Amino acid sequence: MNAPITDLVQIQRLGEKKLDENKRLRVYMKTHGAVERRLRKIATDVEDRIDCKVCANCCRVATATLKDREIDVLAKFIGASRREFLAGYTEVSKEEGRVLKRTEKGCVFLEGNLCGVYEARPDTCNDFPHLARGPGSLMSRMWHMPDRATYCPIAYNTLEAFKEETGFR
Ligand code: SF4
Ligand code: SF4
Repeated sequence: MNAPITDLVQIQRLGEKKLDENKRLRVYMKTHGAVERRLRKIATDVEDRIDCKVCANCCRVATATLKDREIDVLAKFIGASRREFLAGYTEVSKEEGRVLKRTEKGCVFLEGNLCGVYEARPDTCNDFPHLARGPGSLMSRMWHMPDRATYCPIAYNTLEAFKEETGFR
């Protein structure tokens, strides 16, 4: 595996340039019997080689959805009541339901490049970009990856590694 690309300007340029190619990759993987276990291993290897603490781009770009039990965990973590937490730190999106509030810098809990509620962060943050981990099969989550590969170095480099693995052309 080549050294991963982590420069965010480059990731955006390449991810956008390869948007259609990456959409075709999903179909190719489905029809060419890609092995889920092997793909997860590749995704994990890429993840291990990229330091999210110097990136934090998903916290700036993506929204973080909340499960009901995560609301209580986060409220307790920051020392607020459930009601205070909902009013001060969340908003409701038409498409995604309850999500963490965002400011012009990204997620309300982003502090520099670090998560201010790391120990209590929602599952979606822990699992992002949902390649090595996430609900359902990796193949079912591939729908989101062409878009994620325009801003997330793990997603971009993993898709490149999938192309190598499957002989995609
Ligand atoms: S998951 Fe992706 S976008 Fe988020 S910090 Fe890690 S490399 Fe960056
Ligand atoms: S809760 Fe933390 S990890 Fe999740 S989006 Fe906000 S800053 Fe990022």
